This record gives sequence, C-alpha cells and structure tokens, in this order.
Amino acid sequence: MDTQAFKQTLHKSDRYNRRGFGSANKRAQALAEAYQSGLIGSIRDNGNKLNYGRLKVKIAEAFGFCWGVERAVAMAYETRKHYPNERIWITNEIIHNPSVNDHLRKMDVLFITEEQGVKDFAGVKDGDVVILPAFGATVQDMKLLHDRGCHIIDTTCPWVSKVWHTVEKHKKHTFTSIIHGKYKHEETLATSSFAGTYLVVFDLKEANYVANYILGKGNREEFLMQFSKASSHGFDPDKDLQRIGVANQTTMLKSETEEIGRLFEKTMLRKYGPAELNEHFLAFNTICDATEERQGAMFSLVDEPLDLMVVIGGYNSSNTTHLQEIAVSRGIRSFHIDTPERIGEDTNTITHMPLGGELLTEEDFLPMGNINVGITSGASTPDRVVEHVIQKLMKISEKS
Ligand code: SF4
Repeated sequence: MDTQAFKQTLHKSDRYNRRGFGSANKRAQALAEAYQSGLIGSIRDNGNKLNYGRLKVKIAEAFGFCWGVERAVAMAYETRKHYPNERIWITNEIIHNPSVNDHLRKMDVLFITEEQGVKDFAGVKDGDVVILPAFGATVQDMKLLHDRGCHIIDTTCPWVSKVWHTVEKHKKHTFTSIIHGKYKHEETLATSSFAGTYLVVFDLKEANYVANYILGKGNREEFLMQFSKASSHGFDPDKDLQRIGVANQTTMLKSETEEIGRLFEKTMLRKYGPAELNEHFLAFNTICDATEERQGAMFSLVDEPLDLMVVIGGYNSSNTTHLQEIAVSRGIRSFHIDTPERIGEDTNTITHMPLGGELLTEEDFLPMGNINVGITSGASTPDRVVEHVIQKLMKISEKS
C-alpha cells in the first residue's frame, strides 16, 4: 500500500480528526483534577523527598504522565463529550494504564477485542466513532475503519508519527528499516505497517547477531528462523541488509537504541568504507523526549542510597519495564507493580512482576528500621496512582 497517499486521503477526510475539538484545555483541566495528586505536588516542592518517620521516599525528578499521554487521554474525554450519543470504540487501550482505561469504560467507551494478535472489528459499524490510541494503529486498521465509514479520532503521539515518517523515508530511498523494539508491541506493529522492508531487533544481542550476518558471519536458515515473526514478508537477509536505516519504538531504552545505531553505523563502515557509508546507512533520531527524560531521571535516582525501588506502570508498558531494568541493572531490590492494590498494607506484602517473569508475592517486603525507598512510574501512570502507593508505604511503615 502507498501509505503516504493513504494518509493524505485520510487527513483530508471530514471523518478524520487529529486535533481534538477545541476544548482540549478544559478537558486537560478535568484530567488534571481526576489524576493529579496533592501529596506528589508537595513532595515535588520538597526537592522530590518525603520524610515520614522511619520511611524516606525519594521520587524521580521526571516520571509519570508524559505530554503525549495527557494529550491522548484528554482527546478521548473530549470525544465522549463531542459525541454524547454515538457508539465510541477504541482500537486498543488508550494508554497502558488500567485505571485510565477503566475510567473510559465507565464513560461507555468500548474496547475492540483482540485474539492472537488479530483485532475483531465485527461490531464496528458505519457512523461509529473510533479512537486511535497514543501509540497509534496499523495503516491497515486505519484503512479498514475509514472504508467502513467510521469517524476516526487519531490521538497518535506526534513522536510516534515522527518514527512513521522515518520508516517511510527509508522505504522511499529503498533502505531497510531496522526497528529497535518489540515486534508484538502495538507501536512497533503500527510502525512496521508504514515501513517497506523491515526487521525488528529487540536488543543489542539481536542487533549484534544481525551485524555479524552483515559481515558474512551468519547462517541464512538460522537467521530466517530467528526473525520469522520480526521481519517483513519475503525478507532476504543477503539482499535486504545492504542498505539500512535505524528507527525505534519510542519507549525503548535510549542508551541501547543509541548503541544499536552506532553498531550498525560501524558495521556498514567496515563493510563498505567511509566513501560509501551514506549509500548504505541512514542516521536516525526518533527517541522520544519524555522517555529520555524519565530514563535520565531514573539513572540519577538509582545513584542515591536506596534500600528498594518501586516502579509503577502497566505490565505491558514498555517504558515502565525499561525503568525497572535500570534499577535491576544496579542490583537494587526493585518491584514493578501496576496498581496500588498490589501492596497489602495490612500484611506488608507486595505482588510484583519481576523482569521477564511471572507475578510473585513477597511478604515483609518493607524491612524493619529506617528505610529509603525510590519511586518512579511510567509515562502512562497518573500521579494519583503514585500517591496511593506512597500512602500505603506510609501506613506499613507506621506498623512494622
Ligand atoms: S512516551 Fe513519548 S512517544 Fe509515547 S506518548 Fe509519551 S511523549 Fe509520546
């Protein structure tokens, strides 16, 4: 599909809206009232610290709701107000946060279900309103909804659209897009739908594997097997890795994305030499500011003397998982939870998601004596949720 031509058609349609309905400020205010927290405000005013008896809490300098998420949620609220009687759907969770999604459900926003990666659009009818979430939707889904006569409210974050432009640029100049991301993540699915030839690499290890293949040290069959689900149809590593550009899922670990970029640049330099580098490698800059800021703040926070860390955000939130990775890489006892309810304030227990593991419950998680706790949250987590977590820690600290 000519994705650029389709986008132009879509953007001209009177059934497409990516700017909201003019009441965004009011909605943003309502959003602030619903999700902001007085306690967090006072902790921020106190140098991001809270001293409460034996408990010392240090919050990261930047955490929680990012601009793109605030905008998407505000637009979703606005949409309900603008279409009070129409059926409203959302193609996925608006953002990866259970409380925000529940709030939308209470406003009668319907969620399009998905089974084994395939969305069920059967219930969506002509004239329905469909909201696309902050991390976007595939171009095929957009076309289907447009062809069906739906009103599309597109809350895709401009940072994500920027990545789509990048991969479309690769496609135009016949470069393969190497996307640093999780091939199953909605944002990466959307990005790959705008790309021409693409390959998704999850981490530096996979990137090294690809770099070695480029330098003639790989096995074709093994390569095709490894990336069968993470590459475009008919991907040919011998042909399609001759001209490459790098892009990323906006919420990946920034330092790793940069390292992957440098790795491929060096690889192409080694293979083709400096005179031909521009013919074989395209530089990139698709890292989102908010992700960068939150990861930077986390690196500063883990330098503090901490006994443990609580990282709050949806379990399917990529940016939250990367914050957790930073804590774990420093050897800090770190607990990733998605809601305050994961903490049992009467029992001093926490049910958390270890990196790459299954939900685990720990007892006596807050130790006796003076304790320093670091707190951060992902870009989809409202301050109100962080506040509830801190209040629970305060309660436990009073008892034990
Ligand atoms: S994390 Fe970045 S890309 Fe994602 S919604 Fe927020 S600002 Fe946009």
